[in-house]
Amino acid sequence: MTVRIGVLALQGDVREHRQALAAAGAESALVRTAADLAAVDGIVLPGGESTTISRLLGVFELYEPLRDALATGLPAYGSCAGMILLASEVLDTRPDMRCLAGIDMTVRRNAFGRQVDSFETDLVVAGVDGGPMRAVFIRAPWVERVGEGVQVLATVPTSASGPDGAAGTVVAVRQGNAVATSFHPEVTGDLRMHEYFVRLVRGRE
Ligand code: GLN
Repeated sequence: MTVRIGVLALQGDVREHRQALAAAGAESALVRTAADLAAVDGIVLPGGESTTISRLLGVFELYEPLRDALATGLPAYGSCAGMILLASEVLDTRPDMRCLAGIDMTVRRNAFGRQVDSFETDLVVAGVDGGPMRAVFIRAPWVERVGEGVQVLATVPTSASGPDGAAGTVVAVRQGNAVATSFHPEVTGDLRMHEYFVRLVRGRE
């Protein structure tokens, strides 16, 4: 079955996600309007700047359609800023930022520190076979609370040499058809996270 996965294309690393989806065997399409959204089987919310993407969701009249699509089970994968947008509550953000409540979780923006504090580590991700994956964190959020029904897919290992407070924090989650990672698999060439999402969209994960 060919699946068509949208990439929210208002701001952020849209091209990297499209390349990863293509390499993972999925067709992709840019989503900028409600009509674009209605034509896809799933959606990727890219990394970028969550407050900007949130503002542009309003400008492009996509906020309500996207929130409603998520509420009715449209498969979604958010990386970094995309994770922030999928949250139900965001800490350390602008007061006017609106998130989409696709996953019942509280995330803290820029939790690992500023740009210079970006870091990498190897992570075991539940449902992703083949050993740990290299995870790249860039001004990333972490997850401070998950609701019932949210599955934790990955936490930073206690042995990792990341910024203070990083060890043990939740950095990948899933609730129903929505998946989010603090890190950016679209920049490493490791396709397994995108393959996982493509399987989810196909109804096989
Ligand atoms: N710090 C950014 C934000 O708050 C996220 C960074 C990223 O997506 N790499 O949206």
